[in-house]
Amino acid sequence: MFDSLSDRLTGALKDLRGKGRLSDADIDRTCREIRLALLEADVSLPVVRAFIARIKDRAKGAEVSAALNPAQQVVKIVNEELVGILGGETRRVTYAKTPPTVIMLAGLQGAGKTTLAGKLGHWLQQQGHTPMLVACDLQRPGAVSQLQIVGERAGVPVFAPHPGTSVGGEGVLGVSSGDPVAVAQGGVDEARRQHYDVVIIDTAGRLGIDEELMRQAADIREATRPDEVLFVVDAMIGQDAVTTAQAFQDGVGFTGVVLTKLDGDARGGAALSVREVTGRPIMFASSGEKLEDFDVFHPDRMASRILGMGDVLSLIEQAEQHWDTQQAEAAAAKITQGDLTLEDFLEQMLMIRKMGPIGNILGMLPGAGQMKDALSQVDDKQLDRVQAIIRGMTPAERDNPKIINASRRLRIANGSGVTVSEVNQLVDRFFEARKMMAQMSGRMGMGAVGRKSN
Ligand code: GDP
Repeated sequence: MFDSLSDRLTGALKDLRGKGRLSDADIDRTCREIRLALLEADVSLPVVRAFIARIKDRAKGAEVSAALNPAQQVVKIVNEELVGILGGETRRVTYAKTPPTVIMLAGLQGAGKTTLAGKLGHWLQQQGHTPMLVACDLQRPGAVSQLQIVGERAGVPVFAPHPGTSVGGEGVLGVSSGDPVAVAQGGVDEARRQHYDVVIIDTAGRLGIDEELMRQAADIREATRPDEVLFVVDAMIGQDAVTTAQAFQDGVGFTGVVLTKLDGDARGGAALSVREVTGRPIMFASSGEKLEDFDVFHPDRMASRILGMGDVLSLIEQAEQHWDTQQAEAAAAKITQGDLTLEDFLEQMLMIRKMGPIGNILGMLPGAGQMKDALSQVDDKQLDRVQAIIRGMTPAERDNPKIINASRRLRIANGSGVTVSEVNQLVDRFFEARKMMAQMSGRMGMGAVGRKSN
């Protein structure tokens, strides 16, 4: 995500390092490079112009700081301005004073609305809410059942214009199945009756912007008076994201933006333009097809990722969500004593993997931008193989890997669909690592690994 932009920007700023004083020419040259980096990332031209003008102005205005050298000051300025165009403060969901809160999703077909409905529902549940999804995309064949599948996966009930839906049983609706406005309204009424506190309305999208689409979305908005209208946009469509956003802003209006597919080869232009062009904040970001690949959008954290400063806060939050402290402490104790088993190792690995794709996790570390080549070699599939090998072992083998002799190795390899040399490698490395970790923890007196500091 934002890899090449991040590379270019860090490259441009690196050239300033080591200079005691920055001349106007230094600043001009750096600004030129930043400008090119942004244009290449598909950020819209007016946004780039305004951004560069502000940076130039501030950098030349020599904001003196005792703590920072001139190069660091420019980085600070660029960081602050990036946070600014990404929206400044993190924008939270506005909930209705009297439930249900209504959140309407709008956007082009394929933007990721239906997928998002599930993710948002799942996230809201984690926040202690009781959400319900409403299927108002009655145009695309299969859209209603897609939402039902998404809802089922997320464990969130779906209100749909067909009998047999999960809310209230068959035929509760009493609305014509062809009228999305009536379905939307019916969904909100149903949520109120059943005491669901948030309603997420999935609406129809089209391949391009057309009046009928806008009218329908505007009618649903009018009828349900949503607390939030989220414009969902595929970050991979570059400049088109801005045009589409503007059209939706004029035709329907929205209160926030959700960027999807940030896991793709997004150049970042959408993220950096949409807020400036529409004046509406990015509220959520979606970065994959799984329910968990979704998070609140934090402009400050995103800016520091783009500038290669890492996103340690998000990493900590994710760890806190998925970390089982007791399990981690038990493993740490075993590490110190040198008797970690493969079962423990598997448990630890599964815990870390709950945080998301391994490349994403490592990508949040400071300096990850510079390690991109190495990181691109890190592949979840390799971890899948390791997991498969360990799962192919008997409990006794996991507990005491020393008993894994040649015939056992062959059986494990056959059972987990890998070669014997892969099994050998894993077992050998495990012994090496166990020894090394025990030595290290002994030397560092690390009895407390995995214990939270608070
Ligand atoms: P809708 O037409 O707006 O409802 O879009 P869908 O939710 O059906 O999504 C269109 C396609 O994009 C589906 O194949 C989704 O699996 C995929 N998709 C949605 N969000 C993401 C994302 O964040 N990353 C990736 N890689 N794919 C996504």
